[in-house]
Amino acid sequence: MRIADRPYYLAVIVILLFSAVAARAADQTVVLKAARMFDGKSKSLIPNGVVLVQGDKIVDVGSTVTIPSDAKVIDLGDMTLSPGFMDAHTHLTLDFTGNFNERRLKELQTNVSEMTLMAISYARATLEAGFTTVRDLGSRFVGSPEFVDVALRNAINHGITPGPHMLVATKGIGATGGHFDATGGYRDKLFGREPDPSEGIADGPDEIRKAVRFEVKNGANVIKAAVSGGVLSLADEVDTPQFTPAEMAALVDESHRLRKKVAVHCHGDQAAREAIEAGVDSIEHGSFMKTETLQLMKTKGTYLVPTLMATEYILSKIDSYPPALQAKARAAGAARSEMFRNAVKMGVKIALGTDAGVFPHGDNAKEFALMVGLGMRPIDALRSGTSNDADLLGIGQAVGTLEKGKRADIVAMPGDPTADITATEHISFVMKDGKIIRNGPATPRTAAVRDDEVDLPVD
Ligand SMILES: [Zn+2]
Repeated sequence: MRIADRPYYLAVIVILLFSAVAARAADQTVVLKAARMFDGKSKSLIPNGVVLVQGDKIVDVGSTVTIPSDAKVIDLGDMTLSPGFMDAHTHLTLDFTGNFNERRLKELQTNVSEMTLMAISYARATLEAGFTTVRDLGSRFVGSPEFVDVALRNAINHGITPGPHMLVATKGIGATGGHFDATGGYRDKLFGREPDPSEGIADGPDEIRKAVRFEVKNGANVIKAAVSGGVLSLADEVDTPQFTPAEMAALVDESHRLRKKVAVHCHGDQAAREAIEAGVDSIEHGSFMKTETLQLMKTKGTYLVPTLMATEYILSKIDSYPPALQAKARAAGAARSEMFRNAVKMGVKIALGTDAGVFPHGDNAKEFALMVGLGMRPIDALRSGTSNDADLLGIGQAVGTLEKGKRADIVAMPGDPTADITATEHISFVMKDGKIIRNGPATPRTAAVRDDEVDLPVD
């Protein structure tokens, strides 16, 4: 830049700064009022909740807040305001519902671009159900290299399509023949070769480090791994360990060096114990964990993400799964209720996560009632789906509570959720980043968001 240009550029910068300030000042204050408020952290609801929002931030909150005369007031009446719900375990780009074998064949027949378009409906249904943030734990298309979860997250962030804030795990990392090996159960070499670390399949500490680096390179916010067998996979037992302690140590070390948290799919007790000792941040599912393992979690501060909805849905449609998977689902289902009750009694940190995609997207809030049914107090269930999730995801400074300075991700539900937790399933107001997504009925779900009656059109 020539010296003579300086005043001109300075003038431009000053004008830009002033217009930025003017734009801020022009953001009208929006006031949300309701009969009650759950602030994300208190042990009881607060009567007469008022939240002031300016731009994308909460600027004041409480029962006795001064309301500016030019504010736009939205009085929601007999409702309860809450921080936007969070789900620490979704698969927003996938649909595992319906008959297992039909679904598996359809996955091979469907173009990944088409699946991406369907994921747009899943994201919208999730947001409209009140989930303003999700941790999306795995997006995998057998034989295809695409990072659809990264694309969906970016499209949502850029305002191209509505959806929750997403932290994504890309493919997830697992052992050959383990729960994440999508070629398991098919004829050997049907896909030409064995999957490798670029597809998340890694054996030995070095390959695991490579897989972590590859996922971070391609946009992962969090690392997911399968350290024990799973229910919806054909070549593994549900509870056997799938990584050695040395492999788990490499997984955690490499992820934490890159400042990524580690979430592990794990049903088996031995694998859970070894993973907790290795320093993982959360155990997903945890069906067979014994008291001593839960005690170890409590001592180390490891989160449990119980995903009760997943087993609940599979057991309700047990005939849709092959016999080998039915047996695994029954065993995991029988064990997880006792494990969860124990975890609640012992005070293990619990974050709400559902495994959405195993059941239809948008039904995530049913997890609240399942947790309460197994011994959790409603207020603690609400906390697990808001501030606990924010803490686990490492975003507690920005979201998870209704507090001054936090992001304006706010929902409202009818009545009192501490009296009837199923109120969480009837969200009718959703605000994300200070913008109203919904105030009244939800957008009708498209055929892609399946439920009992709706099936994907066969074309
Ligand atoms: Zn999952």
